Amino acid sequence: MIAHTPTLFAAVALVATIMAFCLLLVGQFNRRDNLLLTGCGLLAHALAYVCYTVYGHAPLWLSYGVGNSLLSLALAFYSASLFRVREQRVPWRLVFSIPAFMLVALMLLLDTLEPRMLLATLVLMLQCSLIFYWARRHVERPGRAHLLLEIGALISLIGLGMRVLAVINGTAVEMRYDTSNLKQSISVAIGTVTVMMYSIGLVLMAKERSESRLQHLALRDVLTGTYNRRAILERFALELDSARGEQHSLAVAMIDIDHFKRINDLYGHLAGDEVLCHCVRQLQQRLRQGDSLGRYGGEEFLLLLPHTTRDGAMAALQGLREAIARSPALFAGNEIALRFSVGLWCAVPGPHDSTAGLLAQADAALYQAKAAGRNTVHMAALLGAG
Ligand code: GH3
Ligand code: MG
Ligand code: MG
Repeated sequence: MIAHTPTLFAAVALVATIMAFCLLLVGQFNRRDNLLLTGCGLLAHALAYVCYTVYGHAPLWLSYGVGNSLLSLALAFYSASLFRVREQRVPWRLVFSIPAFMLVALMLLLDTLEPRMLLATLVLMLQCSLIFYWARRHVERPGRAHLLLEIGALISLIGLGMRVLAVINGTAVEMRYDTSNLKQSISVAIGTVTVMMYSIGLVLMAKERSESRLQHLALRDVLTGTYNRRAILERFALELDSARGEQHSLAVAMIDIDHFKRINDLYGHLAGDEVLCHCVRQLQQRLRQGDSLGRYGGEEFLLLLPHTTRDGAMAALQGLREAIARSPALFAGNEIALRFSVGLWCAVPGPHDSTAGLLAQADAALYQAKAAGRNTVHMAALLGAG
C-alpha cells in the first residue's frame, strides 16, 4: 500500500508529540526516572517530522537541514537518557556534538541531493549503532527493556540502509520527502517503529530500574547492605526446602558480637555502626558463592551454609571467628577489636524441621557459647541423636 508521504510524516509527528507531552508532564514530577530526557527526545523527533511534512513548501534549510538535525538531536536525547537511566555519567559532549555536526554539515551540502542524503543517513546510522552498543553494555539483570532499544536500533539501521542503497543505486530522488512510493511508506513505517521502540524501551528501563531499587530497599539492611531479617528468613525457607528435598546437609549459624554494648559505650554509636559494617564486609569476603548472610537483629547475624558437613561448618565458623578477631575495625583513629560467639546447627533437615525450630536450636547453642565465655562456636546437639 502506498500512502501519501507528507500525511504519514504528520501522523508520526502527532503520535510523537502526544507521547512527548505525556512523558514531559510525568517527568516533571519524577526527575529520577529520567522521563524528561526521553520526553525531550520525543519532542525533537516530533519536530523533525513536522519539518519533513513541509518539505517542498518551506525552505530546504528548514525542512531538510533542521529536520534531520532534529532527528539526530532526538537520538542524542535517547542516548543521554540511556546513560541517565542507569545512573551513569552522560557523555554530554560526545552525544550532542553529533547533531551539531549534522546541522553544520547539512547547511554546507544543502544544494546537493546525494551527498546531503548520504551524510544525513550515515550520521543517523552512527547514532543508532551507538544506541545499540550502549544498550547492550551494563545490562540490568534480569531486565529485558534494553532489548526494545536494541531491536529499535536494528530496525532503524535497516530503514537507513535502504536510503544508502537508494543513493548507491542512483535512485535517491525516489526517497525525497515529498514523493509517495512503496519505499517511502516502508521507510516512514520504520521511523514510526523506531519512535515507539526507543521511547517505550527507555520508559520500561526506568521502570525496571526503580523496581530493582525498591527490591533492593525491601531486602537489604540499610546500615550494612547485607540481607535484612525478612530476606534472610526467606532465603532460609528456600535453603531448608532444597536441603530437605535433595537430602543434603545445611549449616545454620547464629552469630552475635560479644560485648557489643561496650563498644557503643566506649566509642559511641557511630563507631558501633562501623563495627557492624566492618563485620559484614569481613564475613562476606570469606563466604562461598552459595552462602547467605543476613542481619537478624541489632548485632546478630544469620549465616546459611548449604552443602556443608558438621565438621566443615565448625571449621568454617572457627576460621571466620579467628579471622575477624585478627582484623579490628577502624574508626576515628581507633582500632576496635571485635569478637563474636556462634550458635551452630548442622544436619540434613528432616521432615519435621522448620525454620523456627532450627533457629531456636541455633539460638540455644549461641546461649551456650556465651555462657562458655564467648568468642567461641558451639554446635547444637542433634535432637534424638543420643
Ligand atoms: P553479649 O556479649 O552478651 O552479646 O553482649 P552485647 O553487649 O553484645 O549484647 P546486648 O544485647 O546487651 O547489646 C546489644 C547492643 O547492640 C544493644 C544495642 O544498643 C546495640 N545495637 C543494636 N543495633 C545497633 C545498631 O544498629 N548500631 C549500633 N551502634 N548499636 C546497635
Ligand atoms: Mg545480641
Ligand atoms: Mg552481643
